Amino acid sequence: MASTRSNKGTKPKRAAAPEVEQNDAAPEAAAADPAAGPLAGRVALVTGASRGIGAAIAKALADEGAAVAVNYVRNKGLADDVASEIQRAGGTARVFQANVSDEGQVSTLVNEVIGAFGRVDILVNNAGITEDAWFQKMDFLSFNRVVDTNLGSVFAMMKAVIPNMQLHGWGRIVNVSSFVGQTGNLTQANYAAAKAGMLGLTKVVALEYATKGITINAVAPGFIETEMIKVIAPKIQDMLLARIPMGRWGQPEEIAKAVVFLVRDGSYITGACLNVNGGVVTAF
Ligand code: NAP
Repeated sequence: MASTRSNKGTKPKRAAAPEVEQNDAAPEAAAADPAAGPLAGRVALVTGASRGIGAAIAKALADEGAAVAVNYVRNKGLADDVASEIQRAGGTARVFQANVSDEGQVSTLVNEVIGAFGRVDILVNNAGITEDAWFQKMDFLSFNRVVDTNLGSVFAMMKAVIPNMQLHGWGRIVNVSSFVGQTGNLTQANYAAAKAGMLGLTKVVALEYATKGITINAVAPGFIETEMIKVIAPKIQDMLLARIPMGRWGQPEEIAKAVVFLVRDGSYITGACLNVNGGVVTAF
């Protein structure tokens, strides 16, 4: 069940290896009923699913039939709303609090999800933060916070979840990077480093598990209309909009569609990065 830890002032601990329970129930059996959806019997863990892109991904995977673990760090009420919406639509979801930049909390989170659902088949590493500043004004603590939350979390989550995927010989991991990891962006040295690092990490781990039935890919969103955009000053927002070839912000649901594609139909796609950005990489 959801724990009550906060990430404020917690010292990252070295993680114990997650305890995994063998669960040989074939999800394909659950999927025998086509009305249940192509991901029926699968369990998805989505980090940072209380709002924005993560919430849209959680709902989209549930629409395909997966049971969804909705992770959040602070906003329990919003995470509960996401789970309730999934349940009202006939799906299965539970909320799990954890700060994914803390390896110890990641280990506990994965154990709790396996305890609740029996397995993890799909992992979406979506949780992320920004702390923008000009390079000379950015301190090392801020650099590390952003790298730990956006990149360290992906390392820790994949390490904790992959042993369970290996038990079943099937897994889908999607890491939510950003176009900023490809182009760079003023005042985002910490964020760009983390998002670029995610692409390298994705490629290496994809190679290491390519023969194990586990695919690992990234999705790189452009500017998507969530809290992350809403905090930008209106004048800057106008400047950014003018540089998007499609002339509009992307919507969280448009990222969720790409994630669902990689999970549901990406059986021969691994180590890839799918850009969903309204053309922004070509113009930035
Ligand atoms: P958002 O609206 O700010 O939501 C962030 C989510 O991450 C929330 O659910 C938050 O949980 C969670 N979170 C933050 N720190 C966490 C931690 N330490 N442990 C667990 N969960 C944590 O962000 P978004 O715009 O949807 O972005 C989602 C992902 O897409 C991020 O990785 C972001 O870098 C990437 N992205 C976004 C854009 C964009 O334009 N929006 C563009 C490119 C890439 P609480 O609600 O509990 O705080």
